Amino acid sequence: MGFSGWRILREGLTGNRGWRPHWRDPAPKSSYDTVIIGGGGHGLATAYYLAREHGLTDVAVLEKGYLGGGNVGRNTTIVRANYNLPGNSEFYSHSLKLWEGLEQDLNFNAMMSQRGVLNLFHSDGQRDYAARRGNSMINQGDDAVLLDREGVRRMVPYLDFDQGRFPIYGGLFHPRGGTARHDAVAWGYARGADRRGVDLIQNCAVTGIDIEGGRVTGVQTTRGAIRARRVGIVVAGRSSQVAAMAGMRLPIESHILQAFVTEGLKPVIDHVVTFGMGHFYISQSDKGGLVFGGDLDFHASYAARGNLPMAEHVMEAAMTLMPVIGKARVLRSWGGIMDMSPDGSPIIDRTEVEGLYLNCGWCYGGFKAVPGSGFSFAHLIATGRPHEPAARFRLDRFATGRGLMDEEGTGAQHNLH
Ligand SMILES: Cc1cc2nc3c(=O)[nH]c(=O)nc-3n(C[C@H](O)[C@H](O)[C@H](O)COP(=O)(O)OP(=O)(O)OC[C@H]3O[C@@H](n4cnc5c(N)ncnc54)[C@H](O)[C@@H]3O)c2cc1C
Repeated sequence: MGFSGWRILREGLTGNRGWRPHWRDPAPKSSYDTVIIGGGGHGLATAYYLAREHGLTDVAVLEKGYLGGGNVGRNTTIVRANYNLPGNSEFYSHSLKLWEGLEQDLNFNAMMSQRGVLNLFHSDGQRDYAARRGNSMINQGDDAVLLDREGVRRMVPYLDFDQGRFPIYGGLFHPRGGTARHDAVAWGYARGADRRGVDLIQNCAVTGIDIEGGRVTGVQTTRGAIRARRVGIVVAGRSSQVAAMAGMRLPIESHILQAFVTEGLKPVIDHVVTFGMGHFYISQSDKGGLVFGGDLDFHASYAARGNLPMAEHVMEAAMTLMPVIGKARVLRSWGGIMDMSPDGSPIIDRTEVEGLYLNCGWCYGGFKAVPGSGFSFAHLIATGRPHEPAARFRLDRFATGRGLMDEEGTGAQHNLH
């Protein structure tokens, strides 16, 4: 079923009775060429690109809950390509280019809004780093504008520029960054994969990974055993648990990240704005809610809900940066389980088990990576070779220490990335 202006008009005039489910609900077959574990953004995008780019359609995505019920539907929807380090820089640049054509490609409205991302800085040292990062972005072919204090004031006059501890010195603006509607991204990829013949199997938790003679042969699930020649693990915060089914111990810690949304307000925040001296980021949804978040809850956990001290911490950062927010009422908050890697950068790689592939370690930033990650992971699974923009996301860098990508220079502590 395709979308068009004509179709929407016709359905509107006939009581919207002609719409059909966007994907089938097939029973799992006993065998597939390729099984993707995890029906989040990355898993669905991988399945889509396996079919679209490589013609592989004997593929199943196994999701233990419902499609898009994980982090892909819980994030603060920020999309950007403003990284500094080689490896990250080209990967996120590639991902943003895919975002820019995504809605046409999927024939699905993901509400992609390139409203610009503004990273504030509050000291001379931060300004120097912002200038260096902006140059890296421009060298990569992306866009960056270094703004002084007055430039920032013209753009976002509602901030507290003279805050005693953290006065605003300026900002690095990334015009092509922005937001997209997170669950629509999952739905669009799901529909696109289903239309190309991929089986999307919901309520199907993987409980074991079958390995014979060093080669993957299939998975055990709550809906029976499924044989497969190739298996991809793409389960975000559950990566350590699922990889353990194949005897692997990953360098991943799972932490909770919360998000908050206020009641709907008239348009007030036109861009994505991030605070440079505390971890705080905010944008306004098309419904008018201010959507914001901050730090992780600083203990490892598999509970997909946050705690109150961190809620207070985030609100304090919000009030420091923009006291005007104190007038808004928070409507909802929620949490997601983040797969935090020791250097803050992801893993897209083969494993020591033949035919078993791993995609994880997205930390705070895996939503913007969805198209790029799906594209690169599909390439790796289909061809057996790393996709160039993701070639540095190797698992063995944590064993050898070579090729670490510590974008923020925070060292090997998972919860600081
Ligand atoms: C509050 C919050 C805010 C965020 N904000 C941003 C942001 O603004 N920008 C950004 O770029 N990133 C952001 N992120 C990060 C981003 O959402 C994640 O990095 C990304 O969504 C993770 O990949 P995914 O979509 O595949 O994960 P998920 O959607 O979590 O998908 C993994 C899936 O695997 C399934 N699964 C787990 N175990 C099994 C099993 N045994 N068998 C079968 N299925 C299984 C899960 O049910 C889940 O559906 C945020 C995350 C959170 C929680």
